[in-house]
Amino acid sequence: METLVLDIRYLPVARVTWQRAITLLWEGKVEVVEEYQDKTVRSVTLEFRVPAVIRFLRAIRGKRTGIKFNRENVYTRDKGKCQYCSRSVPRHDFTYDHVVPKAQGGHTAWDNVVVSCTPCNQRKGGRTPGQAGMRLVQAPAKPKSLPDVVRLTFTWRKGMPEPWKQWLQSVAYWNTELQD
Ligand SMILES: [Zn+2]
Repeated sequence: METLVLDIRYLPVARVTWQRAITLLWEGKVEVVEEYQDKTVRSVTLEFRVPAVIRFLRAIRGKRTGIKFNRENVYTRDKGKCQYCSRSVPRHDFTYDHVVPKAQGGHTAWDNVVVSCTPCNQRKGGRTPGQAGMRLVQAPAKPKSLPDVVRLTFTWRKGMPEPWKQWLQSVAYWNTELQD
C-alpha cells in the first residue's frame, strides 16, 4: 500500500509506503489530503484510515547540486526517445539500456546509458550496438544543462489507487504546452 506525496503546490513529487506517510504525519511535516476509504490500520490503541494522498506543508528545498544521474534526467536528456530507432518511449514503458552491456564491462554512467524502447532493447540483448548491428542516434554524454521544468516521475495509469487519479492527471494538464 502506497501513499502519493504532493508538494506544497499540490504537485505530485513521490510515492512512499503508507508507513513512511504516517511517520511524516506524526512529524507534522505533511497533511492528509485524501484517505483510502476501505483501508484501515489498527494499532494497540487506535484505528485509522490509511492516507492515500498527503501534502507537504512547506516547500521542499531541493539543493541544486548539478544534474543528477537518474532515470528522470536520462529520459529528459534523450527527449524520451529510443536512442536506436528514435521512437517516442512513454514514461511508463521507459527502460534504460546499457550501450556496452554490464556483462561486457559496461558501466552505469551518463556515457553508457540511453533510453531504449522495449523492441530495441530485446533485439540488442546482451550485445553492444556493433555486435547487434544497431546504431545509436547520438553518443550519450552527461548533459551540460536540462530544461528547468517540473518533471514528473510518473503519470496516472490503470492499477494505481483511484484517489491518486485527479492529482496525477492535473499535473499532465498543467504541464502540457499551450498552443494557439
Ligand atoms: Zn527503439
